[in-house]
Amino acid sequence: MLPRLLPVLAGLALSLLLPACTSMPQRNPMAQWVPSPNHEPRRPVIIVLHATEEASVEQALHTLRTANSGGPVSAHYLIGRDGALFQLVADERRAWHAGGGRWGTITDLNSASIGIELDNTGGADFPQAQIARLLRLLDDLCTRLYIPPSQVIAHADLAPTRKRDPSARFPWKTLADAGFGIWPDADAPPAPPGFDPWLALAAIGYPLDHPQAALRAFQRRFRGIEAAPENESVSLAPDAEDARILFSLSRRLLPKKTTTDAMGVD
Ligand SMILES: [Zn+2]
Repeated sequence: MLPRLLPVLAGLALSLLLPACTSMPQRNPMAQWVPSPNHEPRRPVIIVLHATEEASVEQALHTLRTANSGGPVSAHYLIGRDGALFQLVADERRAWHAGGGRWGTITDLNSASIGIELDNTGGADFPQAQIARLLRLLDDLCTRLYIPPSQVIAHADLAPTRKRDPSARFPWKTLADAGFGIWPDADAPPAPPGFDPWLALAAIGYPLDHPQAALRAFQRRFRGIEAAPENESVSLAPDAEDARILFSLSRRLLPKKTTTDAMGVD
């Protein structure tokens, strides 16, 4: 009996050891391992907000935890319309929520970010209880993980050709009033002559590989404008209100000299 049990016990012992081994530091065999105690888990530097575009929080929980037909996806957090807060992936782990895209110089958003999904069918308003919970979560994440509060963006911002979420109905001004994300001054003056709105758009972080899509993402976020699908191919140029908002945002984000030099302003 004992000899037959031995391989089973050995296998069991091995399976118990494996999780411990996988959490061991990964040593590069090319180098001599001379460990230092001075380290900690890598930290995200940006927060990406999504709308689930699903019928219910239960359906979203299922999608975010399974190998669905479009490939497995996940997010660190999901907030229900009633404010219920779920965590699906640990903060220090890389969740699969952003996909391809870029924001400023960040090209691997999944590695650099925390992803928060908001239960929403895609075109619905965001209930007050949901936004209140989001604000508390943003406060927690920015404090605990040292993420700059201005570094809160939309999924559509980093992937403007592929995504629209969290949609034109998302209350970005409410977030800004609480200190998160960016928002123009209400009494910002018109942009001065020579100001280049495209340069400002890029300086804020928008990828300009497809300038029209980036401008639509900007207008969705800062002006609540959602282009009708039949108008998506219509050529778009920044208007005076776009320029006014972009000038205000770029003045807040960039040192004054950089703003005037880089934006074409004398
Ligand atoms: Zn998304």
